[in-house]
Formats: sequence, C-alpha cells, structure tokens
Amino acid sequence: MNIHEYQAKELLAKHGVAVPSGHAAMSVEEAVAAAKKLPGPLYVVKAQIHAGGRGKGKFKELDANAKGGVRLAESVDAVEEAAKEMLGNTLVTVQTGDEGKQVNRLYVTDGVDIAQEYYLALLVDRASGQVAMVASTEGGMDIEDVAHETPERITTITVDPAQGFMPHHGRAVAFALKLSGDLNKQCQKLAKKLYDAFIEMDCEMLEINPLVETKPDGDGNAELLVLDTKMSFDGNALYRHPDIEKMRDETEEDPAEVEASEYDLAYIKLDGNIGCMVNGAGLAMATMDIIKLNGAFPANFLDVGGGATKEKVTAAFKIILKDDAVEGILVNIFGGIMKCDIIADGIVAAAKEVNLSVPLVVRLEGTNVEKGKEILENSGLPIVSADDLGDAAKKIVAEVKEAA
Ligand code: ADP
Ligand code: MG
Repeated sequence: MNIHEYQAKELLAKHGVAVPSGHAAMSVEEAVAAAKKLPGPLYVVKAQIHAGGRGKGKFKELDANAKGGVRLAESVDAVEEAAKEMLGNTLVTVQTGDEGKQVNRLYVTDGVDIAQEYYLALLVDRASGQVAMVASTEGGMDIEDVAHETPERITTITVDPAQGFMPHHGRAVAFALKLSGDLNKQCQKLAKKLYDAFIEMDCEMLEINPLVETKPDGDGNAELLVLDTKMSFDGNALYRHPDIEKMRDETEEDPAEVEASEYDLAYIKLDGNIGCMVNGAGLAMATMDIIKLNGAFPANFLDVGGGATKEKVTAAFKIILKDDAVEGILVNIFGGIMKCDIIADGIVAAAKEVNLSVPLVVRLEGTNVEKGKEILENSGLPIVSADDLGDAAKKIVAEVKEAA
C-alpha cells in the first residue's frame, strides 16, 4: 500500500526524523490557512498524488509552459494562486502514465534553502533477503538517469535483519554520501532512525529524494532534512498497523483492485484480453504463462484463494467483466480443499447472475472433478470444458479469435 508524501512525513516525524513543517490541504482555503500557519517567507506547494516526478510533471489542463506539481511560492497570495492552478487538474509525470492523476490534495510546506541534494532509500532486497540501503550523492529529480548512466555513483549497503542495524552501517551510509563533521554524525543517526522506522512499520520501500543539506545558518550550522519521501507498506502486515491502514487513499488506486480487496481477492489488472480466474498464486502465474505461450495476453492476475466461495467466484466474475478489454475468460481451478462440484455450482450461478457475454473456458481438476464437469455440462450455458492447462489455454485463445 502506498501513502502520500505528507502522510509519510508525519510518520517519519513520529520516528524522530527531521522534516520541514507543513500542512495538507484539500481546498484553496485550506491551502491559504496552511500557509498562514507557517513562518514564510518561502513556501512550497506540492501536489499530493501517488507518483513521483511531480516537479517535472505537466498539467493536462494548463499550457505547456505552466509550472509542474511542486511550486515555490514567495507569499501567501502566491500559495493561493498555485493551489487554484493545481487542485482538480490532472498532473502527468513520468510515473503516472499518459492518463495522469487528478490532484485532490496539496501539501503546503516550508521552503528550504538547499545546499546539496542527496538520495537515500531503504527497500527489501529479495535476492539477499536483507534490507538494502541505497545511497547517492546525486539526489534530486534525475536519479533514474544517474542509475542508468553512472551507476557507480550509487552505493548499496545491506543490513541483515537478524543482526540488525549496526553503527558501521550508519558510517557506511554517511561515507557514501561523502559527508564530514557534524553532517556525517547527523547522517549516521538518521540512517539508524530510518532503518528502525522501516522495520517497525513493515515498510516495503522508503525512498527519500531529495534528502537535503541546508545552507548553513548564521552560526554556521547546516542540517539534513527529508524534503521528499515515498513510502509503501507490506499489505500482509497492515493488520498490525491500523493507523497506517487508515491513511489509504482509495482514489489513488485502481477501482477494480479496491473492489477485489473488499472480497479478499488478489487482483491485478494487466494489458491483455483474456480474463483469468484461478486459485493459488502459483497456478495463476502458470495460467498467465501458458496463455502467453499460446499467443495471447492475460487481462489480469486473479487469485481467488484456497477457500473460494460462490460469493467470491461471483465477485471475481464481475470484476473481470467490468474490464472492457476482456474478450474471454479462462477459469482454472484446482479442487483441493474445495471440491470441484461446489466450484462448478459457483461458476454456473455466477455466470447466470452476471449474464456472461464472452466465451468461458473452464478447467477443473481435483476432488469430484467428474461431478463438477457434469454440472457445467448440464447448466445450459455455453461453457467450454477443458481437460488440462494446455488444452484450456488453446481453447480460450481459439474461442476469442473466433468471436472477434
Ligand atoms: P518530485 O520528486 O515528485 O518531483 P520533490 O518533492 O522531490 O518532488 O520536489 C522536486 C524538487 O523541488 C526537489 O528536488 C527540490 O529541489 C524542490 N523542493 C521540494 N520541496 C522543497 C522545499 N520544501 N523547499 C525547497 N525546495 C523544494
Ligand atoms: Mg522527489
């Protein structure tokens, strides 16, 4: 699950990490009120969408020369102006796709006098089974180019979660960022706080870009501040963090995926035209592979889970059919815990209820498979039965071609 920048900063602040002060705003009035609560004279108004690249983004409704989704404002009036231009409009960035994302929330925050921008991210490194801390002196809006063109400027430091964060990890991060003196010490402390926050909140990713070094104040003191952050959480651990779960913004998510999660279905929309309903993630992956092997593409990944009920199967059918791209459905279910005849009942009831309008191929295997096939045959519905995975994929691809 992803959250907005302002929410991530709230969470980081709770873990003792230094962030500039700021307030979220859902309307122009709120943005003005937010600015009035800040000291000024420099404010930054930031579009809150679940995508990065906002600074260099473009608004669909504004002309091409208009500024992007991160705007410096030198007065409360300028904050108002920026809020008016951004709210309700659609921001297109390198991460949103061409359709962009509508800006419904803003974050009005203190303008910071930046001396240097760094990059620091924590993520779960599946290859090593450890937490990777990725650091670079080349922070800011072009980190993707740095990764491509000069990968040697990015350092990865892995922390074994069984051992935990050690002082040497902190020193390695500060060294990678080429920091010295007091900033080096600040960085070591920050790295530890971020690691602790990452583990404590069951994060999947915590990216800070940029982490900034401020220009020295009158006493010559500079500070490390988190200026932008992206955070995502392990969905399977969210039950441990009801406060974080509340931060979910469903308007940022695919509506079909939101509906699927209400029924506890694992659904991810893809680009193809063959809808898949499968039980078990491994079988779902194999089904998608074999569809591709037969020259077509899956429209989705959908795992109805081990104990699929009639209600779940119906909900799954409805979700698949809401996708206009779907031209055929392949059901591939292994009746282990669930018996095939019960699944067949569910499929027939669901197909009748949703008024199935595209070809449906069903492959059942496992307990009571004969009974299940009989139910499908006697249903009076144009369901094509398949014997194995290969047969099922061939049949659905052929059916879809024929219908086209
Ligand atoms: P995105 O990564 O989505 O483009 P950022 O929050 O990183 O958005 O903002 C882009 C750039 O805007 C930053 O690299 C930084 O230079 C500048 N910026 C962002 N927030 C502030 C701030 N509070 N004060 C000064 N400059 C900022
Ligand atoms: Mg950024």
